[in-house]
Amino acid sequence: MSISSNITGILRELPPHVHLVAVSKFHPATSILEAYNAGQRIFGESKAQELTAKYEVLPKDIQWHFIGHLQTNKIKYIVPFVDLIHSVDSERLLEEIDRQAQRVQRVIRVLLQIHIASEETKFGFSYDECRDYFSSGAWKRCKNICICGLMGMATFTGNEQQILSEYEGLASFFRETQETYFQGDNNFRELSMGMSEDYRIAIDSGSTLIRIGSSIFGNRNY
Ligand SMILES: *Cc1c(COP(=O)(O)O)cnc(C)c1O
Repeated sequence: MSISSNITGILRELPPHVHLVAVSKFHPATSILEAYNAGQRIFGESKAQELTAKYEVLPKDIQWHFIGHLQTNKIKYIVPFVDLIHSVDSERLLEEIDRQAQRVQRVIRVLLQIHIASEETKFGFSYDECRDYFSSGAWKRCKNICICGLMGMATFTGNEQQILSEYEGLASFFRETQETYFQGDNNFRELSMGMSEDYRIAIDSGSTLIRIGSSIFGNRNY
């Protein structure tokens, strides 16, 4: 299978409200161009330096999404051009992105990452931490940030029932926060969930952004 036929195959399955983020981390610019030539414009990367290097050599109408754990000292490299940061996992990170965004006079679109997996190792706010943060109203002071929704990663497991229940839990929390804190704010509408192994379950649960790497580009060589 080729990159372009993999993309076409996935796009054919997607309902109109779901968008595909092609996760190109660890894959070369030539592979990204192949996907680009098949019409794909949204790409996801998880390392600031790798993202910046690819941004410099690839077409400027690509929408770059950052999906990995972001260290505060790396924010400055990506704020000039990043389109959406999926993985804001702390209040401090959000405030630091705001500060860096102010310097380059941009408003950065972000999602808050919610910890929904049973593993300890995945980053993110718990449901309660996120509720506390939204109700504190502190985020409203960040004028160079636009909170556009939530992101979550399910447990790495073959148990589809567990994945379904994690995704449905996040979708229900998403609706709760939308109604409670973002009434009338049309920007708060993205729910980023679903990877190669579980995106169909995520779509059934209400995902609007799926992040797919290996099903498009093949296995990664770390
Ligand atoms: C790598 C990665 C993906 C893509 O994973 P695949 O299983 O290759 O589709 C999605 N989301 C995040 C946050 C990732 O780090």
